[in-house]
Order: sequence, then C-alpha cells, then structure tokens
Amino acid sequence: MKKIFFVIITIILLSGATYLTDKLFLKTYSDPKISSKNKITKKSSVKNDNSQTTTPQKSLPDTSSDVVLVNKTHKLSKNYIPSDLRTVKVKFASYAASNVRKMRANAANAAEGLFSAAKTDGITLLGVSCYRPYSYQEEVYTAKVKKDGKTEADKYVAEPGSSEHQSGLAMDLLSTEYTDLDDGFAKTKAYEWLKQNCAKYGFIIRYPKEKISITKYDFEPWHIRYVGTAAAQDIMQKGLTLEEYLGITD
Ligand SMILES: [Zn+2]
Repeated sequence: MKKIFFVIITIILLSGATYLTDKLFLKTYSDPKISSKNKITKKSSVKNDNSQTTTPQKSLPDTSSDVVLVNKTHKLSKNYIPSDLRTVKVKFASYAASNVRKMRANAANAAEGLFSAAKTDGITLLGVSCYRPYSYQEEVYTAKVKKDGKTEADKYVAEPGSSEHQSGLAMDLLSTEYTDLDDGFAKTKAYEWLKQNCAKYGFIIRYPKEKISITKYDFEPWHIRYVGTAAAQDIMQKGLTLEEYLGITD
C-alpha cells in the first residue's frame, strides 16, 4: 500500500514538473518578442527625451520616423522587424531573390510611384533588393569578411544592424539598360533620371560619390532610401546626406 501511494505521489510530482517545464518553455519562447518590443519603445522614448537637448545622443534608431538614421554608428536592434512590410509591386531583376522584395508600406507606395513615373519617361527601373533581415545581413557580412577581409568588406557591406535594408526603407535598384550592381550604373540615363526625380517620391540617393567621408560608404548609385518627400527634396536640392540633414555626423 505504501509503495502504491509512493508511485502515485511520484506520478503527480512528475506531471507537475512537466507542466511547469512547458510553462517555462512557453515563457522563454514568447519573452524575446515581448522584451524586444518593449526595448524598442523604451529606447525610442529615450531618444525623444534626448532630442530635446542640443547634443545629439547615440541611441537606438527611432524607427517610427521616416528620417530614421541607420548607419555604422547608429545600429538597429537585432530584433527589429518593421511591422508593416509588404511586397513592392514593381518589376524586379530576374536574379532578385523573392524574399527581399518587401518594404514598409509608405516606402512601398512611394517606390511604386517612382517606378511608374520612370516608365512614363521611357526608363524601366528594376528592383534588386529591399528589406533584408538582420540574419541575412549577418550572413552576407560574414561571407564578405571571410572572402576579402574586414577592411574591404566594411567599404561595401554593412555590419549586421547597420544596414538600411533592415529598416524596410531602402532599395537597391538598376534599370533594363544596366543590370550590374556596380558604379557603372551612375553613367546611365536611368541614374540621371533618378537624381532628378527620386525626391518627388520621397527618395534620396543615399551614398553619393562626394560624401564618402560622411556616409562611410563607397559610392552606391543603386541604393535609394525613403525619407518622405519634404526631407528628400531638401536633401537632394541642397546636395546633403541624411547625416548632414539631421546634423548627426558622429
Ligand atoms: Zn543597398
């Protein structure tokens, strides 16, 4: 009888332990999402507080803003995924992977307007790469460092967290007249058209040739960034970078 009682108690204890383990697993499983969300909100509010002072502070980029600065010194959180990503309905290069064709809603709308205006002017733009998650950038960066070394990699490939592509506001694009992702694109009609017209749709040429010392990136004529029309027109007309526009060049 004592033995049976012991067995029953053991069973009860074990099932209790399993139940607890499941609860714990569920907790740890769901926690990162919750905490990352909290972290973003918390840091954003910290930034807002800082913006009231005159000294620009390094903090987690405020992703609620169209002019959010993401660069080598202002990195996005590993957990940041824009909540309003959608596929951009434009023509993409045949080699463009199907999982890098999304942008945040406003940027996607703007990109569609940009592509259709170009088409009207006889230029067929081609999307190459839009939103890329942190993990994707991590893979690309690690591979490039392995192949060419860190110095060379840092010129072209953003370290994970420092890529604008993770913001869902950037796009690499080319045109049917030039489909290689290199600075030869700068000599095309499409690039000239982009320089003249992208701001009307809220985009800027993010890494201009004459601003390498500020952006810390080599010339990338194919990389455009959505910042909203007001900021874009100001930036493009005055020949600024986003860093200069925001007054944050650290
Ligand atoms: Zn790019």
